[in-house]
Amino acid sequence: MAENSDKTFYITTPIYYVNDIPHIGHTYTTIIADAISRFKKMDGYDVFFLTGTDEHGQKVEKSAAEKSMTPIELADKVVMRFKDLWKALNIDYDYFIRTTELLHEKGVQKIFKSLQRQGDIYKGDYQGHYCVSDEYYLPEDVPLEKDGSKICPDCGKKAIILKEESYFFRLSAYEKKLLDFYAENPEFVRPQSRMNEVVSFVKSGLRDLSITRTTVKWGIPVLEDTDHSVYVWFDALHNYVTGLGYDWNLGLFVRFWPADVHLIGKDILRFHAVFWPAFLMAAGFDLPKCVYGHGWWLKDETKMSKSKGNVLDPQVILNTFGSDSLRYFLLREIPIGLDGNFSHEGFIHRVNSDLANDLGNLVQRTMTMIQNYFGGTITEMDKAEKEDKKLAKEFKAVKTKIHQYYEDYSLNKALEEIWSYINTINKYLADNEPWKLAKNEENRGRLGRILYQAACALRVIGYFVYPVMPDSADKIWTFLGENKSPAGQCFSELQFDQFKPKQKTRKPEILFPRVDLKEFLKEEEKEKTMATINFNEFKKMDLRVAHILEAEKVEGTDKLLKLKVDLSTEQRQLVAGVAQEYAPEELVGKKIAIIVNLEPVVIRGVESQGMVLAAEVGGKAVFAFYPDDVPAGSKVV
Ligand SMILES: [Zn+2]
Repeated sequence: MAENSDKTFYITTPIYYVNDIPHIGHTYTTIIADAISRFKKMDGYDVFFLTGTDEHGQKVEKSAAEKSMTPIELADKVVMRFKDLWKALNIDYDYFIRTTELLHEKGVQKIFKSLQRQGDIYKGDYQGHYCVSDEYYLPEDVPLEKDGSKICPDCGKKAIILKEESYFFRLSAYEKKLLDFYAENPEFVRPQSRMNEVVSFVKSGLRDLSITRTTVKWGIPVLEDTDHSVYVWFDALHNYVTGLGYDWNLGLFVRFWPADVHLIGKDILRFHAVFWPAFLMAAGFDLPKCVYGHGWWLKDETKMSKSKGNVLDPQVILNTFGSDSLRYFLLREIPIGLDGNFSHEGFIHRVNSDLANDLGNLVQRTMTMIQNYFGGTITEMDKAEKEDKKLAKEFKAVKTKIHQYYEDYSLNKALEEIWSYINTINKYLADNEPWKLAKNEENRGRLGRILYQAACALRVIGYFVYPVMPDSADKIWTFLGENKSPAGQCFSELQFDQFKPKQKTRKPEILFPRVDLKEFLKEEEKEKTMATINFNEFKKMDLRVAHILEAEKVEGTDKLLKLKVDLSTEQRQLVAGVAQEYAPEELVGKKIAIIVNLEPVVIRGVESQGMVLAAEVGGKAVFAFYPDDVPAGSKVV
């Protein structure tokens, strides 16, 4: 809305590594960025919001090979998953940068060349303790083990000694300049505690940075020395300028650079707060205003990671709750600088209590009363009394606070403030009991006033929650008969009382259904088992054609048949729940498919050494029969 505004705002997420699949961590960073970006737009800024993927490096090369794919095929696939997830979560980014895009590669090569020419990049030999898993040489200050090796502080694996020809970035030359910059810009790293970490790291001495590899083929080649490819961070960090048009859309770049905030997980702080400003200083670019390191979501008190297998799949939560509940929970639960623990109980409590009860019920009740008592028209009647004016008065104070909190990226505090106002509205209705007033025609004027006040308050609530819950905010405004999204109104122009006379409202629908924890966990378990079988797991299943030799009913049951089958190498006994579909004599002599390598189970006292495959049609089992000339024991693939 503010494309002509002279106030601009540029926000980024890190680019996500395509060797990973999207999880709550990525989701969290991206939701924070989206909420801030939406707020800034409402506040009159012209905003550019960049996200994307980091696609080069050894790990991607390796994973792709393991999956018999090319690296770019793997990247394409994972990018699709990220984009689908961002769509489902209502992430409204302006550009999705991929480091394999030509515009990025060319930009990096150009910057590389120019730093090389001015002497900030030089060629040398590098030897060090190298962590293959994290693809970096360990810092010097990592202590030696007894056997002279080093253990990677990030992943705990033993590092190897590596020596290779490499280009170096003259990081050591920027030590003093960086320290001066931090001193002059104490807000550059947030939260403050993290700034202290960064300063002491730089004070401990900076060594030149190896920025190319000859051992990694999947990377951006160095111009005129193509045995070398640009190494992870020099490649990845430059996405923040190439994704903004550096070297392909100068107008865009000039308008938005430098970044107002790079949002990152605290684990990549050093790269963003030390290497990145040094690269930029060398290239002569202005420096970003802020690098914000947010905390991690822990599961069972440990960091979620693919290797630990405790990654939460946001898609499962989205399928059940929709995007706003997840956005709300992640932003409400903790301040963005701190760690949080994700628990299903905590999540469902928030959904049921804050969303379904406090907000959802308020909307539902108010809108239904307007429908029932005033035919859906918002009708301002009777003069406002002192207690009615209180809602409007409080709105002014609340608006100022919420603006401050959003501006400070204190999203959890903004939400707390909004919910405290929601409680005030709920209390206003509880105190005035409009549903009782409605029983007597004499009170109609008073009733109209109360519902009018409540509708005004709901309208501003819809506005306030928009950055965090855009879907619900749009719905609330639609119920209220506003034919626009809250996004279209400027924060500074928001008033308590902005309805047209006799505004027509719409019938509300339920915003947040209540959820039962047990039901949800069951659903999640089901989705997980369905979602996680991969080809390797499928390959583990031994499926064979079996020739039915005998069939009889299992005594004392209506549904079970006991089958004796031949697999050519052996005979097996199976129990199948098909007695209502097939008579035993129908089956003898037929050939069916069975899973051979299932653990045997005992059903009604009879052992079943395998399982028969059948189609389920209207609750009934239907076997697939093979023709006579298919030998028993043939593999089913
Ligand atoms: Zn490591």
